Parts: sequence; C-alpha cells; structure tokens
Amino acid sequence: MDLTGFLGNPGVKSALSEAFSSGRFPHAILFQGEPGTGRRTLASLVARALVCREKDKAPCGACPACLRALAGSHPDIRVIEGKGEGGGLSVEQIQEMAADAQRMPDEAPYSVYILVFGERVMEAPQNKLLKLIEEPPGSAVFLMVCRSAQALLPTIRSRAQVFRLMPPSEEEAARWLSEHTSAGEEEALRLAALCGGNLGRMQEEMKSGAAKEAMEAAVSMARALTARGAHELLAASAPLIKDRALCRRALERLETLFRDACVLRCGGGALLGGAPDIAERLASLPMKQLVKLPELTESARQGLERNANAALLVTQLCAALREAVERS
Ligand SMILES: [Zn+2]
Repeated sequence: MDLTGFLGNPGVKSALSEAFSSGRFPHAILFQGEPGTGRRTLASLVARALVCREKDKAPCGACPACLRALAGSHPDIRVIEGKGEGGGLSVEQIQEMAADAQRMPDEAPYSVYILVFGERVMEAPQNKLLKLIEEPPGSAVFLMVCRSAQALLPTIRSRAQVFRLMPPSEEEAARWLSEHTSAGEEEALRLAALCGGNLGRMQEEMKSGAAKEAMEAAVSMARALTARGAHELLAASAPLIKDRALCRRALERLETLFRDACVLRCGGGALLGGAPDIAERLASLPMKQLVKLPELTESARQGLERNANAALLVTQLCAALREAVERS
C-alpha cells in the first residue's frame, strides 16, 4: 500500500502498509485526531488502495477502480456520514450499512465503509455497529473516523485497530501548501506556524484570509469608482495585478457588488455582495451606466480565465469602468 502521498504519520502509514502486504488487513480501523489532521483523507486513500487493481502500488490512481473511487462512484466504497446538528450517525444509517455489508462486493475484494462520527456520538447506533464489527461479514472493512476514540464505547475501541493522526511538521505542511495552493512560501510558513502544521486549518485560514482580502479590494475599487478622479480606481486595483488568485476572487466580488447595485436601482433588495452601503452608493448612478459595470467586470474575469495578462486586463477594466460611469 503506497501512502507516501499522505503527509507525516510515518508509523501509521507503515503499520497499514505492512498489514496490507501481509494479507491480514484489519476489518475495523479507527482513525482519531483533531479535525484537519487528514483523517478522512487517509481513510479515503486506504479505501482506494483496498479496491485498486494494482496491488503492488495501490492506490495506483490510474486503474479503472482507482478512477471510479476518485470520482466517488466506486460501488464497493461507501461513505456514511452523520447528518443534522452535531453530525451524529443514526441507528437507521448503521442498520442500512449492516444490510448492505451482507452482500458480496461488486468488483473489489473488499466492501469498504467509511464511517464519519460527528461531534455528537450516540450510544444506540454504536451498539448496532458493535454487533456488526464483532462478527464482520468476510469482505467488509470499516474505516471509522472520529475526533477522539475516548468518545466511543470501549467495546468498539477494543475491536478496532486505533490510529491517532498528528499534523505533519510545520516545514512539511508549509511545503505542501505552497506546492498545491496559491499560497506563496512565506505565507505558507506563516500559516503552518499559526496552525501548528494542521493542514485542514491552514487551508481554512487561507480561504477566510483570502476571501477577506478579495472583498477589501473589491470594495475599495467600487468606492473609488464613485469618487471623481481616475487615479483612485487604479490605485485601488493595484493589489490585483500582483496576485492572480486575488484578482480572480476580487473580480467575482466586484461583479456581485455591481449586480447588487443594479438590483437596488430596480427597487429590489436581495443583496449578495456583502457591502450594501457601497451597492447603495453605486445605485445612484443612472441605470444605463450601471448595467455596463457587471458586464465589463464579467468579461475581464473571463479574460483572466483565458490567461490574459493580469496587469493589462485590470488597467483596461479600470479605464472601461471609469468611462462607463462618466459618459452621460
Ligand atoms: Zn488503482
């Protein structure tokens, strides 16, 4: 089993690989760890390895079984996730899974069930589950995911192989983030230090930070457009030129703000842009000027998707927006 794509946790990975090559893979595994430590990622990776047709390098990522698993459509991998508040698994969900586990797998040697325990862990479904993992159907493998094994019944814990997942080193997490996302090296190191290498939290932090930055850029551009001179708008758009990802997100926001202004101008009130004061200010423009703004922004955004030069595109957009609001 090749789990090298999963960061950190060398002991866990080698134990799983050895069990797989020995042909005695446990039928119940419990991955415990803080959210963001990759519990589900690892469970999915293991599930793919169990159905992969290339046993020596499973999951190979290229065989038909891997491709279906990656697309979430492999018939022998099921994900059972708690619903509602606290995400607790219900008795009905476990019963359904138990019935399903009695049949033979469709095509893989195993039927793999990924069970995601939410924050709310109840006793009744666990009792049902216990019966199932005490006498598991021959081909079923249950991969359980929870925050802490202590929250589960001791009888469940004792029948499963329990692994605790830890974040990788901060350096490792930062390297992964800068290689796989738009975060620069410095930003990645800052996020790794902030989140102790917890990749899930780093990505969340990145998203919320990036979303805020894009919103700020869009708002200041919209505000500059309502001011007199041409210079303010160019100055407000400067951050977009340096960062393509920010540019794309900010243009999306700006387009929404402009659409909000059109809605207001038409007497509507359901605003989506998150900056009603700016939308209201823009809405004082005549309708025939106003309708051009989202169109211009949309076509700039599409230009960016087609890999146009960001600096040129943003400069042209600023000029076009300025012209649109100044024409009487
Ligand atoms: Zn494969």
